Amino acid sequence: MTETVFDRSHVNPALVAASLSASALQPFWLDGLDVPSWPRLTGERRFDLVVVGGGYTGLWTALLAKQRDPDATVAVIEGRTVGWAASGRNGGFVEASLTHGEANGEKRFPKEIEQLNRLGMENLDEIEATVASSGWNCDFERTGTLSVAVEPYQVEELRAAHNGHTELFLDRDAVRAQVNSPTYLAGLWSTRSTALVHPGKLVASLATACAEAGVEIFEHSAVRGLDTGSTKGSVVVETKQGTAIAQRVALATNAFPSLLGRYRLHTVPVYDYVLMTEPLSAEQLASIGWDQRQGLADLANQFHYYRLSADNRILWGGYDAIYHYGGHIRPEYDDRPQSFEKLAQHFFATFPQLEGVRFSHRWGGVIDTSTRFSAFFGRAHQGRVSYAAGFTGLGVAATRFAANVMLDHLGGLTTERTELQMVKTVPPPFPPEPAAYLGVQSTRWALDRADHNDGKRNLLLKTLDAAGLGFDS
Ligand SMILES: Cc1cc2nc3c(=O)[nH]c(=O)nc-3n(C[C@H](O)[C@H](O)[C@H](O)COP(=O)(O)OP(=O)(O)OC[C@H]3O[C@@H](n4cnc5c(N)ncnc54)[C@H](O)[C@@H]3O)c2cc1C
Repeated sequence: MTETVFDRSHVNPALVAASLSASALQPFWLDGLDVPSWPRLTGERRFDLVVVGGGYTGLWTALLAKQRDPDATVAVIEGRTVGWAASGRNGGFVEASLTHGEANGEKRFPKEIEQLNRLGMENLDEIEATVASSGWNCDFERTGTLSVAVEPYQVEELRAAHNGHTELFLDRDAVRAQVNSPTYLAGLWSTRSTALVHPGKLVASLATACAEAGVEIFEHSAVRGLDTGSTKGSVVVETKQGTAIAQRVALATNAFPSLLGRYRLHTVPVYDYVLMTEPLSAEQLASIGWDQRQGLADLANQFHYYRLSADNRILWGGYDAIYHYGGHIRPEYDDRPQSFEKLAQHFFATFPQLEGVRFSHRWGGVIDTSTRFSAFFGRAHQGRVSYAAGFTGLGVAATRFAANVMLDHLGGLTTERTELQMVKTVPPPFPPEPAAYLGVQSTRWALDRADHNDGKRNLLLKTLDAAGLGFDS
């Protein structure tokens, strides 16, 4: 076993403790965010389309449904508040990839990877065009991503991944001229594939656009179940205080238990943790450079993603991925001191010149991991119900593509999207407990070992790779 660059760095534990001591346990993006609130669903209401879940998937589905048919009556029914979950607490990397990166897509859908890449880029371009034409104030910046090698074996990985004129390979000096870290050995700047956004403002923009288009939004209205037995040709959507009778239903519930029993084991909730610094001073920012403001990510199986906010804070997230036995989602899991300490230590190893910077916010969020690490699509109740989930932590842009797929399905349409293998096939489910827990833990352990062994994958990971279940970031 070899030490990683983060193990080797000797960051003073007192510095780490001090940097976290005043942080608030709250997603920075939702702190003070101006989003309207909406009523509960009460009584009995009828709609052409009911969307369950008020994150990006649900809001895009409702908005695009109104754009396709302005006369349709559309409702979004959200169990808590719009955008409180992953959509309000992510890193804000709006990535073109629909497949959780090109390597994962190439392995799973080799025949259609070029088509998927094109569709993903079109989807990102359309998001950018919508943001611009609608005047959404969501700090959208098409900066691209800079992938950085921090171990010698990763330099060759980057060189091999370099393709296309929109990507720039940067050697050690060139990458440090972009962003100044003593840990960087090389970089690959993918200039068009990614934008950055303020995730909370994107939620607020989407929700406001939905409301302006005539979508009715209901909050604090957890859907308990769907019933097609009692009404002919429609679906009854039940909440504690109200009922919606819908011609069509789109399920956009992400990591939360699927309302379709057959998909309950197709995702597991995995926690990801994030820190946000105070705004950097001009001198602190100058000590790093970062003039092009790219989104950054390092390369191991356990990787960090980081970026600047509009007011020049650094968001620093990733590395640990924590699954709790039974697949529970609980508020107390949002706080995980050992993950935050590890993140802070790795932050100062990367940017030692920022010694003394403090973190203002820390938070956790839940990701809907599927066994193919990218979205899948389900249908039920004679095509009246559509479902999309499984984004596995890369859904800021892909959720809009998924919204279009669900609307194609619900409209009975055959489109380029519905003909994709990625859309037609559903990945294998996870096993039930205790096998799910043991499987996730042993995979995490093996990935950590690979990161400590120049990326070399052990027998377990090779077996999972061969079965199409392996993860390669
Ligand atoms: C910490 C973190 C960092 C991330 N970083 C990135 C990133 O940088 N880039 C990227 O592309 N992706 C990222 N992701 C993933 C991305 O945020 C998600 O893929 C995306 O937000 C999923 O949107 P969604 O609408 O499907 O899910 P969510 O935002 O989770 O919304 C689902 C909604 O459904 C509601 N719901 C569930 N069940 C019911 C029910 N029965 N009745 C009513 N409502 C219900 C929930 O309350 C919730 O509001 C990150 C995720 C996390 C957690």
